[in-house]
Amino acid sequence: MKILVINAGSSSLKYQLIDMDTHEVMAKGLCERIGIDGSRLVHKYGDDQKVTIEKPMKNHAEAIQMVIDALVNPEYGVIKSMDEIGAVGHRVVHGGEFFSKSVIIDEGVKKAIEACNDLAPLHNPPNLIGINACESIMPNVKQVAVFDTAFHQTMPPKAYMYALPYEYYEKYKIRKYGFHGTSHKYVSMKAAEYLGKDIKDLKIITCHLGNGSSITAVDGGKSVDTSMGFTPLAGVPMGTRTGLIDPAIIPYIMEKENMDTKQINNLINKKSGVLGVSGVSSDFRDLSDKSEEGDEKSKLALEMFGYGVKRYIGTYAAAMGGVDVIVFTAGVGENDNVLREYITKDMDFMGIKIDPAKNNVRGTVDITAPDSKVKVLVIPTNEELMIAEDTKKLVEG
Ligand code: AMP
Repeated sequence: MKILVINAGSSSLKYQLIDMDTHEVMAKGLCERIGIDGSRLVHKYGDDQKVTIEKPMKNHAEAIQMVIDALVNPEYGVIKSMDEIGAVGHRVVHGGEFFSKSVIIDEGVKKAIEACNDLAPLHNPPNLIGINACESIMPNVKQVAVFDTAFHQTMPPKAYMYALPYEYYEKYKIRKYGFHGTSHKYVSMKAAEYLGKDIKDLKIITCHLGNGSSITAVDGGKSVDTSMGFTPLAGVPMGTRTGLIDPAIIPYIMEKENMDTKQINNLINKKSGVLGVSGVSSDFRDLSDKSEEGDEKSKLALEMFGYGVKRYIGTYAAAMGGVDVIVFTAGVGENDNVLREYITKDMDFMGIKIDPAKNNVRGTVDITAPDSKVKVLVIPTNEELMIAEDTKKLVEG
C-alpha cells in the first residue's frame, strides 16, 4: 500500500508518498506561499532529483491538486494514477482530550478537530483545511488524523493538571497536553525494538531536541509525563521559545515595558530561548561555532539548554522510579555529540554513562559506555513513517 502523508501549515504543505511494503519514500516535497504571490512546489523524487514548479496556488485544494499532478507526472512522477494512493495520513497538531490515538476521519472527527482550534490557533485550522482539500480531490480515499498530542493522553492527572483554580480546567480545558507525541512514540518503539525487549518492560526517557524540544517519560510504552505543556512553549529553552519560566515574570515585563498580550506572546515565542540569551541565533550550529570562538553568551545559551535537558532526565527518572533507556532524537539530539556529552556528564551516579568514542561517530545508535546500567541510544525520528504506519493499520482495519 502507498500512503500519502500530509502536514499542512497556514501557507505551506509538506508531503511524502511512502511505499509501506518497503518503507521507501517514493517522493516528497513542499508547497510554499499558498495563497500568496510567488507560490511554488518543490518536488523531490528518485535519487535526490528535484523539480521546482512555480505556479499560483490560491488555496490548499490547489496545492494538493498540484501535489497529485506532480506524483503522476510522466517525467518526474512516481505513480501512474491517483488510484495507487491507498490512504492519506494527516498530521494534526492538537487533539485536545478527544483523541488518545489516531483515527479515521469522518464528520465527527472534523468537528472535534475544529473544537480544538482555540488550543492551537496557528496549526489546527490549516490542518483541517488540508483534510477538506484532500477529501474534495480524493473523495474515495480514506483519510486518517494522527495527533501530536495523542500519545500523551495517558498522563495521569497529577502530571497534567496545573495548580490553578480547578474551574479553569473545567471552563477552558487548561491542562498539560504535550506535543511531539508521534516522535516520542516512534523512537520509544524503535528503542525497544533495537534492544530486542518488550516496551512494556522498559522505562524510557525520550529527548526530542530540535528547534522545538521536548522530553518525555515513557513507562511501559505509555507517556506518563512530558516537558511541553498547555502549549509547545513549556519545558527546556528552545530555539526562540523561553521554556519554563516563573509565570510572574510575564505580568512584570508587560508592566515595565508597557506590552500587550500580543507583544508578550511574540517575545516569549519568537525572541527568547537560545536566540534571546545569545543574541546570535536560534540555530544550534551557529551557537556551537560562536561558542568555540569564545562568545560567552552563546556558550551560556547552550549550557542552559543542556542543563535544562539534564534536569528533566533527573526528574523523569524520579517520576518513573528509575530509567532503563535514554533516547536522543531530532536535529540536535541526533547530530550534536557535544551537547549529548554535556547532558549526560556526571550522571554515572544514576547509572548513566556514555562512551565518548562511540558518541563521536556519526550514525552510531548505541553510545552507551560498557559499564553503564542505563542504555543511551541515538535514534533518528521519522514522524512521517509513524503517521503512515498508523494510517495503514487503521485503513486495513
Ligand atoms: P529540527 O527542529 O529537528 O529540524 O532541528 C533543527 C535544529 O537542529 C537546528 O537548530 C540545527 O542547528 C540543529 N542541528 C542540525 N544539525 C546539527 C548538527 N550537525 N550539529 C548541531 N546541531 C544541529
